[in-house]
Amino acid sequence: MANKLKNCPECGRIYVDTGVGLCRDCFEKEEDTMQEIASYVRDNPNSKVKDIVDALGVKERLVMRMIRDGWFVTEGASLEYPCERCGTAITSGRFCDKCNAELQKEMERSKEKLIKQAAAEAARAAAAKNIKSLDMGNKL
Ligand SMILES: [Zn+2]
Ligand SMILES: [Zn+2]
Repeated sequence: MANKLKNCPECGRIYVDTGVGLCRDCFEKEEDTMQEIASYVRDNPNSKVKDIVDALGVKERLVMRMIRDGWFVTEGASLEYPCERCGTAITSGRFCDKCNAELQKEMERSKEKLIKQAAAEAARAAAAKNIKSLDMGNKL
């Protein structure tokens, strides 16, 4: 993978992106912050995302990413954060169970719709062909 020059989203400095998404300074700072968050959660296993953000003055985005990366699973803490769809408190993934089920259903429904659309399209094309051959038949 080729390294690209990018602007660091944190400090705006130009850096060589190695896939981390931050310049080296900011990345190291973020690693420190992540350790800080991890030890806070170790001490306060029942804390919510908002508690951590308020207590440490860190970015919610960072805490969320750590949750998704499974940072706190080993700590035995089940951090709650809102489902991206309905806001219900969840502890893993992006959506609550209910939304997961609904999204699954929606996906299946849109798949069915696509299949039906394709079938209708094919039927229409076939019908058009039939009409054409009927026209020709009439002319004969
Ligand atoms: Zn930076
Ligand atoms: Zn939900």
